[in-house]
Amino acid sequence: MDNAAIFKLSYGLFVLSAKDGEKDNGCIVNTVQQVTTTPNRITVAVNKGNFTCEMISKTGAFNVSVLSTDVPFDIFKRFGFQSGRDVDKLEGFEDYARGGNGIIHLSRYANAVISGKVVDTYDLGTHILFIADVTDAKVLSDKDSVTYDYYHKNIKPAPQKTEKKGWRCKICGYIYEGEELPEDFICPICKHGAADFEPIE
Ligand code: FE
Repeated sequence: MDNAAIFKLSYGLFVLSAKDGEKDNGCIVNTVQQVTTTPNRITVAVNKGNFTCEMISKTGAFNVSVLSTDVPFDIFKRFGFQSGRDVDKLEGFEDYARGGNGIIHLSRYANAVISGKVVDTYDLGTHILFIADVTDAKVLSDKDSVTYDYYHKNIKPAPQKTEKKGWRCKICGYIYEGEELPEDFICPICKHGAADFEPIE
């Protein structure tokens, strides 16, 4: 089997946000899809390690900000490379608004916001799959949506030259120093697994 075939699948990139009491939070996901139009339903799979996953499991509601091609790498660092358990991801951030459900969404760098209300969940082991009714939706701009491929080619900073020997995370650039990367290694910055690492040339 050629695992590289899996990388030919295309994905969008999104900020998935939730609110639990006074706590606002959001994370980066690439797994939002519309699965039926009648009823209008979407699914999103979220890693159980993400605080946003826990919040949506509890509250049953979320917003999806569909990222557009003007999105800077800082948005990925803010929402993707730190945990809402440790920090307030909105600190010093102004490019957001609140939807009718009270949950934040990006007001800039996103071309649409879609609100979901969870109707079912499926435990996938590492992830929870949320199946949700679309309760609201709004177009924010006419810019193109970001794909995962576009992120890698245009948004992620080029790898820095380094004397270090080891493995580099293809998602965030973290470097693991060592001959062998453990199979169960999880990137401490972006939480992606060993499959997303490449040897440093
Ligand atoms: Fe990483």
